[in-house]
Amino acid sequence: MLDGYVGWPEDHIKMFKEAGYWEDIPFGDHLDRWASEYADKSALAFDDKEITYRQMHEHAIRLAYHMITNGIKTYDRVAIQMHNVPELVYCVYACLKIGAIPICSLPTYRWTEFSFLVNESEATAFVTHAGTVKGFDHEAFAHELREASPSLKYVLTAGTPSRSDMFSIQEVLSSNIDLDSAKKEIARYRPDPMEPALFQLSGGTTGVPKIIPRSHNDYYCNAKCSSKALDFNSSTKPVMVLPLMHNFALVNGLFAVHLAGGTVVLTESLAPKSVLQKIAMNRANIMITVPVLLHRLLDLSEEEREQYDYSSLERVLWGGNPVAPDVQLKFRDTFQCDTDQTYGMAEGLICWTRASDSLDVKLYTQGRPVSQADEVKVMDVMTGTEVPQGESGECWARGPYTLRGYYKSPERNKEVFSEDGFYKTGDLIRRDADGNITVVGRLKDCVSRGAEKINAEEVERHIEKFAKVKNAAIVGMPDKVMGERVCAFVVPLPGATFTLSELQEFLLEERKIAKYKLPERLEFIDELPVTKVGKFEKKSLRERITRILEEEKKA
Ligand code: AMP
Repeated sequence: MLDGYVGWPEDHIKMFKEAGYWEDIPFGDHLDRWASEYADKSALAFDDKEITYRQMHEHAIRLAYHMITNGIKTYDRVAIQMHNVPELVYCVYACLKIGAIPICSLPTYRWTEFSFLVNESEATAFVTHAGTVKGFDHEAFAHELREASPSLKYVLTAGTPSRSDMFSIQEVLSSNIDLDSAKKEIARYRPDPMEPALFQLSGGTTGVPKIIPRSHNDYYCNAKCSSKALDFNSSTKPVMVLPLMHNFALVNGLFAVHLAGGTVVLTESLAPKSVLQKIAMNRANIMITVPVLLHRLLDLSEEEREQYDYSSLERVLWGGNPVAPDVQLKFRDTFQCDTDQTYGMAEGLICWTRASDSLDVKLYTQGRPVSQADEVKVMDVMTGTEVPQGESGECWARGPYTLRGYYKSPERNKEVFSEDGFYKTGDLIRRDADGNITVVGRLKDCVSRGAEKINAEEVERHIEKFAKVKNAAIVGMPDKVMGERVCAFVVPLPGATFTLSELQEFLLEERKIAKYKLPERLEFIDELPVTKVGKFEKKSLRERITRILEEEKKA
């Protein structure tokens, strides 16, 4: 077993295998099956290209073969910094075939995030773009990262790199190799399905993100149960409007669709017109996204909307943040489609409302777990006992695809897992008599901005490195579109003054953190309120910024 990985106890392993939740084959084997079952059907649509299951499989084989001939081994870690292009999908499947472990990072991560992830996981490979994409020089970044990271040897790029020590994915895909011999060679790298298939990342509450190891058995089980709960079939054609490596996207928007033989329309732009254009161009019937896009689509005028034929859109699936019921109703009415919502997390547990649910369930709850084997407890955190049905408490989860421990984090694991293996999610939920869950709050200290969770302590530590700052506390301020945005309450050093843009510049240029984590509001304060145990008391800060925003709105 991979060092630092915590698996399931024997009795649970036996139960999940016997009940068929775990098929006990590596994820890459499923890809072979799809390639023969769905052969000439489109697996991916991107711009004006359609890629069949057979082609996708062949691309994955070529890349996997290139990886192993360049020294990548089973269980090696592969860091990824890519936008939603088909090459990303081929690389993920190539890794799964040989048991190399993709680290599911976002394309917007920068130095701070990647240097930590690469070093913590001792990644040997980095997959990115050649040259500059969306204003960021990925290739130069990869070069610097490799120089600074002893473990990192192999760099693969979408597009042709200018450096001779990096490999172009397109070149690998067009190379003249014997596919049957490559398949035989790759078979020698077939991983154990009990081992991690990929590393997801926790939005987390501690100073550094935590790595979530997800095994072949558990991730496939998750995708299969989600696919079934969502009634996906070979006609399913979602436009996927989220970074693909995000757990929500990867499980529900890629794997759950592929295992049903559907077609994934790739995009990541949250620009509403471009999404409508993608739907029209591809006749997509589902949209998988986060609430930000719903608001943006509703902000379009009728005239703007009607420029696109989105009549193929039957259903919108979203999650990550709550959406007010009146907004949901308006969306359903405006776009004449059904809607379902999810509550879930990269650590495992996924709930969905179902297509057949009543309107009330769809509007007011985030549904129920996708697998019968998911166990959810609603806990009173003070007494450590379950609350009566209908009351709110912390969500604890355990099941065939919910992690049993963060990677290499024994201390943290003691805090966030019960003795019998329940993961303490840090979310406050309520559950109705039918088992439907409604998220009512959050105990964990993070900001939920659009699709992303931002770890408060991590950003606070960076701000406190700013020479003019004594200390800082981050809270989420309410925002109609993004759900929340980051507000920094800062105690400046005596006599120091600075602006929000100076602070942002410091965080980007000196601390090199991803842009989406930046504070969007700066509030100076004489002293930060603290709790009895000496932690920053965030509730009153949240109330304070909410009051300020309300007053500003009135003015
Ligand atoms: P991530 O692991 O990045 O997908 O984030 C998971 C976290 O997002 C959960 O633990 C919740 O705190 C939050 N979350 C997910 N879905 C919802 C939802 N529908 N409503 C409110 N919060 C949610």
